[in-house]
Amino acid sequence: MKKIAFFCIPAHGHTNPMLPVAAELVRRGNEVRFYSFGEFEEKIKAAGAEFISCDSFLPKLTKQEEAGLKNISTTEMTVQDIRITLSMNDFLDQEFKSFQPDVVYTDSVCFWGKLNAWKHNVPMVVSTSTFAFNQMSSGYMKNSPKEMADMVFGLPRVSRELKKLEPYGFRVKSVFSLIQSDNNTDSIVYTSQKFQPYSESFSDHYAFVGPSVFSNVLPEKKKERPLIYISMGTVINDRPDFYSKCIDALKNLNADVIISCGNAINREELGALPDHIQVYPCVNQLDVLARADAFITHCGMNSVSESLYMAAPMVLYPQTSEQFAVARRVTEIGAGIMLKDDSSEGIRAAIQEILNNKVYGNAAAECSADFRACPGTAGAAEFIENAPHSSNSIDILSELNRATAKFHLLYWLIVIIAINLTGFLVSWKYVWVIGIAAGILASPIGKAVQKRKYTSLAYSVSLSGSET
Ligand code: UDP
Repeated sequence: MKKIAFFCIPAHGHTNPMLPVAAELVRRGNEVRFYSFGEFEEKIKAAGAEFISCDSFLPKLTKQEEAGLKNISTTEMTVQDIRITLSMNDFLDQEFKSFQPDVVYTDSVCFWGKLNAWKHNVPMVVSTSTFAFNQMSSGYMKNSPKEMADMVFGLPRVSRELKKLEPYGFRVKSVFSLIQSDNNTDSIVYTSQKFQPYSESFSDHYAFVGPSVFSNVLPEKKKERPLIYISMGTVINDRPDFYSKCIDALKNLNADVIISCGNAINREELGALPDHIQVYPCVNQLDVLARADAFITHCGMNSVSESLYMAAPMVLYPQTSEQFAVARRVTEIGAGIMLKDDSSEGIRAAIQEILNNKVYGNAAAECSADFRACPGTAGAAEFIENAPHSSNSIDILSELNRATAKFHLLYWLIVIIAINLTGFLVSWKYVWVIGIAAGILASPIGKAVQKRKYTSLAYSVSLSGSET
């Protein structure tokens, strides 16, 4: 039996996948203490874990800070994460002394969980509620100019806040060391190896356990008419404009429609609804998805995983860079289409495409089978119980970095030789053209070389895996 301390930020998408893991660990006789917040108390207790309230450590937010968090500003989230870590310091010092956990299981962006595990020298396993993002897979995230500006202009503020951690015994090199997935940290990712982009670039410190769900329900799609489910998740779901367009798009369709709109919306705002369209603040999403034939989703990782688990194809309407990364992967496996035109006509056309063309449903069903063959919550519990883990696998990322450095050295050597040869043999007048062209081409050629090298490394890793 082990004592395991769970830590998570106050967010449904991050807390939800940790709950079945907590329940499984408790079932196996471990003692689980879950440091969380009032809105999750009931669910945590239902999982059989001990709930420890951290609500009093949440800072009072100004209107501007609140707006920043609501808009998923990376800077604002990082700053608030640091502030909560600071205000919890004395409390958690005391808790680590009295509870003496054997393992810490912490969400990947929950700084107080990670930093206290390091400070108190307790083996740590990270819960990754999105894809694992490293230098390869983060290529799936395309930050919008607004997100880039937020990160760049927010850096000085974040560095100032990071410095405040030092006197409390927290040593942090940079904010990236706190949030990026690295190949030395034991991590659980709630997806399959097949669905994770560039999964071969992750060491065997990673456990791809498949979606963490409480449900044993199997997909059951047989019924009189199709069911369409719509949700924008639990964070940015205040979108009456979008729900109204969906209602308008689907009002004459021979189908049942369920919309989960969250608590931020007054149902009356959506006007009179036809009988076949139902709107709720919250539904049992897994149950609905088990019967759904199409899901219009904001592409939160949990929603998409649950949808694939329940073999429901999707109309993808991502709002953040992370959601775009998830959406891109869904289109790659063919289980959904992007909603490029979010007018009523565009929504209707996208839904009709999903309902009329079986390829999307078939791809989702294939992924459902892959997810259900994953180690699941039992695998996650075993991984946590046995932490820390060692790794004997090839670290593809280090190999890649070495290969990239070699390529750039060789590339620029050739460029210098070319410039000199042209200068001596032809003329020095135009050699600057070679320099500029080489500068422009360095990045795309470098990326292509890196991709090639990755493919060959991934192939040799898969060969050595099949030999063992
Ligand atoms: N959810 C739910 N009922 C609802 C809407 C959402 O239980 O009516 C759950 C859903 O099953 C998922 C989580 O809320 O586990 C949403 O997480 P996701 O990562 O998809 O999006 P986020 O809310 O973090 O943007």
